[in-house]
Amino acid sequence: MLRVLKFGGTSVGTLERINGVAQIIKKFRDAGDDIVAVVSAMSGETNKLIEYANNFSQTPNEIEMDMLLSSGERVTSALLSIALNELGLQATSMSGREAGIVTTSQHTNARIEDINTSNMKDAISNGKIIIVAGFQGVSANNARVTTLGRGGSDLTAVALAGALKADICEIYTDVDGIYTTDPRIEPKAKKLEKISYDEMLELASLGAKVLQNRSVEMAKKLNVNLVSRSSFTPEVEGTLITKEENIMEAPVVSGIALDRNQIRVGMYGVIDKPGIASAIFTALADADINVDMIVQTRGLDNTTNLDFTVPTVDIEKTKTTMIAFEDDSEKIDYNDAICKVSIVGVGMKSHTGVASKAFTAMAKDNININIISTSEIKISMIIDEKYAELAVRSLHEIYELDK
Ligand code: ADP
Ligand code: ASP
Ligand code: MG
Repeated sequence: MLRVLKFGGTSVGTLERINGVAQIIKKFRDAGDDIVAVVSAMSGETNKLIEYANNFSQTPNEIEMDMLLSSGERVTSALLSIALNELGLQATSMSGREAGIVTTSQHTNARIEDINTSNMKDAISNGKIIIVAGFQGVSANNARVTTLGRGGSDLTAVALAGALKADICEIYTDVDGIYTTDPRIEPKAKKLEKISYDEMLELASLGAKVLQNRSVEMAKKLNVNLVSRSSFTPEVEGTLITKEENIMEAPVVSGIALDRNQIRVGMYGVIDKPGIASAIFTALADADINVDMIVQTRGLDNTTNLDFTVPTVDIEKTKTTMIAFEDDSEKIDYNDAICKVSIVGVGMKSHTGVASKAFTAMAKDNININIISTSEIKISMIIDEKYAELAVRSLHEIYELDK
C-alpha cells in the first residue's frame, strides 16, 4: 500500500526526533509499504525566519519571504533522507518544485493548481522512499518558489495523497488525535475516534490548529482517508477524519475551538445608506483580507454599527484599507484583546437549545459576549481575551464533552 505520512514541526524538532521519525518510516517500509513523507520545518524555525525578515522590514517583499520560509522544510527533508539512508534504506528528498507542486503566484499564501506526479512515481517505482519538503510549490506564472500559508505542510500531504491516490494520509503531530478541545487548555478533553470532514473543517477554521483548514477542505474534496496521530506514541491509533455517513451516531456537540488570532474592527455611527457594506468588504477582499464575523445593527438615529473580525496578521493591511472609509462613520476602533470561542457539531442541525446552553455557561462565569454568530453546525462568540481559557473549559463542561 501507498502511505503519505506528514511530520509536523515538533515531530522533527530536534536531530533526535528526526531519527525517531526515520524509525517510524523504517517500520512501515520493512512491512512492505511505499512511502511518501512530507516534513515541516523544525519547530520554531519558520517563526524565527519571519522575525529575521521583520528585523529589516515590517512589509518584506513576499517573493523574498517565500524564498526564505521555504528553506526551513528543505533542511528537514534532506536531514531525514540522510538519516534514512544511514539506516540502509533508499530515500530521496524533493523540494515542492521537484515533487511537481504547481501553484498560483499569491506569494506566502499560494493555492495548489496542479501536481505533476511523474518525478514521484518514477522514484517510487525505483524503490525510493520520498521525503518532500512541505508547505511549498512553484508558481506556474513566474517559476518562483511559493509557500502555502501557515500550517501548509498539512496541505502538501493531503494534496499529494490525493494526486497519488494513496491508501492513507497520516498527519503525525505532538498529540495523538483530534480532541473535543485543545488538550493543552482543557486536560479533561477526550479523544475522538472519528470526526466528519465538515466538523473538522469548522474546528480548524475556527482556530484548532491541529490540522490546517485548507488541508481538511481538500481531504473532503478528494475523499482522502485522513488520520491525525502522534509521532511520540506511534503505537496509539489516532483519529479518522471521514465522511459524515461513516459516523454512526454523531454527538450534538463534537468540539470547542479557540482562536486568539483575531482583531475586532468596530465602526460606530455609520451613515445608513445602501452600498456602504459592499464598498467596505469589496475593498477588504481586494486587499486579500479574510473577513470573518460580520455583524451590523441599526441604531435609533439612522446610523448603524458595523462590527467585523480579521486575522491579527492582517491588522496593518486592514487599517490602511479602512482609511478610505473614515468619513463614513463617527469612529473606527481596533481591538486585539479579544478572542473567538466556537462550538461545533453536526448534531446541532437537529437539536434545539444548543445555543442557549452556551450563553448560560458564559453567564455563569460572568463573561460578557461581544458578538455572537451562528451557522448550521457552529456557534461562535467574541469575548475578552482574558477569559479565553475559562470560556473553553466552561463550554466543555456544559456540553459534557468530558463524559
Ligand atoms: P504540527 O507542528 O505537528 O503541525 P501543530 O502545533 O500545528 O502541530 O498542531 C498540534 C497542536 O494543535 C496540539 O499541540 C494542540 O495543542 C493543538 N490543538 C488545538 N485544538 C486541538 C484539538 N481539538 N485536538 C487536538 N489538538 C488540538
Ligand atoms: N513551517 C510552516 C509553518 O510553521 C508550515 C508547517 O509547519 O506546516 O507554518
Ligand atoms: Mg500544524
